Amino acid sequence: MLSSYWETNRVLSTVDLLIVGGGFTGLSAAHFTYIKNPSLRIAVVDQQSYGQSMASTRNAGFACFGSPTEILTDIENEGIEQALARVKMRYEGIQLWLEMFSSKDFDYAPDGGLEVFHSKEISIYEKTLDMLSLLNSELERHIGFKEVFSPSHGINDSLCYGIGIAGEAGLHPGKLHACLLTSLQSKPIAFLNGIAIPPLKHWIKKKGIWHIPTASGWIVSEFVLLANNAGLSQLGENTVPGRGQVILTQPFAHGLPAGTYHAREGYMYFRTLGDRILLGGGRDAFRQQEETQNTNGTKEVKRYLEDYLTTHICPGKQVSVAEHWAGIMAFTKNQRKELLSKFLEDKVLTVGRMGGMGVAIAPRAAQDAVHQLLS
Ligand SMILES: Cc1cc2nc3c(=O)[nH]c(=O)nc-3n(C[C@H](O)[C@H](O)[C@H](O)COP(=O)(O)OP(=O)(O)OC[C@H]3O[C@@H](n4cnc5c(N)ncnc54)[C@H](O)[C@@H]3O)c2cc1C
Repeated sequence: MLSSYWETNRVLSTVDLLIVGGGFTGLSAAHFTYIKNPSLRIAVVDQQSYGQSMASTRNAGFACFGSPTEILTDIENEGIEQALARVKMRYEGIQLWLEMFSSKDFDYAPDGGLEVFHSKEISIYEKTLDMLSLLNSELERHIGFKEVFSPSHGINDSLCYGIGIAGEAGLHPGKLHACLLTSLQSKPIAFLNGIAIPPLKHWIKKKGIWHIPTASGWIVSEFVLLANNAGLSQLGENTVPGRGQVILTQPFAHGLPAGTYHAREGYMYFRTLGDRILLGGGRDAFRQQEETQNTNGTKEVKRYLEDYLTTHICPGKQVSVAEHWAGIMAFTKNQRKELLSKFLEDKVLTVGRMGGMGVAIAPRAAQDAVHQLLS
């Protein structure tokens, strides 16, 4: 629907802090802003309908801080201190969720994780095992958790090697998002849904206050926090969108121990959901095609995931897929992971680029961002 003159020529909302993005990052930023200063006027704007987001309500629900191979790759790319500092933030993020809400309300299941390796990946498995004691002592130093990783068995003849991950859990991201919304509803925070914020070049600054044109009217705010994840790529930031696709099986006797599973350096991941299996990934096989903000899943990736499921996770079992969906992540263009938050303009801060681990890191990054923007 095209906007009317009456809609665009009015001030829709005047606030102190505008948060762009109503996912885990934006909503937890609203939570921490309210705690910091309850008298601030806050609005959260999202282009999606209320209760939906591009990633936070569409992910796999791993409350994870990194599998051994992922952490080792990050250490190789950016050095041990930076890589471990981010692992620490993820770990602290999970603890923040547990402090903010009752674990029962978002189906938090601390069953532990397992990184599995294919029978042909013996050399990478052995190399990773050689690094476990170093990783464990570094993790103990950074997060105070002993013996996070331990050698283990795989799950079958195909994915036959494993490394256990203590402290990892699964959760229900939709319920966690609803917990945030419910707790924020009792606070004086405005939710403006179905509204897209345009790129910065369209904004106007008058007397130190930002005036932002939208299809529904102007939004006026002194501070702006851009917590819009993949939407940051449209602002010309060093951000690349990455679509992630997921399938969920019908209930069947899968025989897997309850928990979360990582494979192929994090490019494949699966978890139990009672008597179902949720499986996602495969972006490495469809890299160019998945660099998009289109949230429609594709037949090719669905087939790829189904093939992995029947060949490697439950070979020989009768299984059918009940659901297939996609969400959009945000990555940095280069291998080095950028600072999570960064000023774009005076009083305009971005926070994002959390890749495939924002469930854990989002509240922790939002807490820092609020402090940085409003202090
Ligand atoms: C399939 C999939 C599986 C994943 N699995 C996991 C997992 O198991 N564990 C894990 O830790 N992480 C996982 N992730 C990543 C995790 O979901 C994200 O890192 C996290 O949800 C990011 O939260 P966010 O609030 O920053 O972004 P989002 O949830 O994407 O919220 C940003 C919001 O900004 C809005 N927006 C964007 N541009 C604009 C604009 N111009 N104007 C208005 N609104 C705008 C979008 O509509 C969106 O709702 C997965 C992601 C996907 C897609």
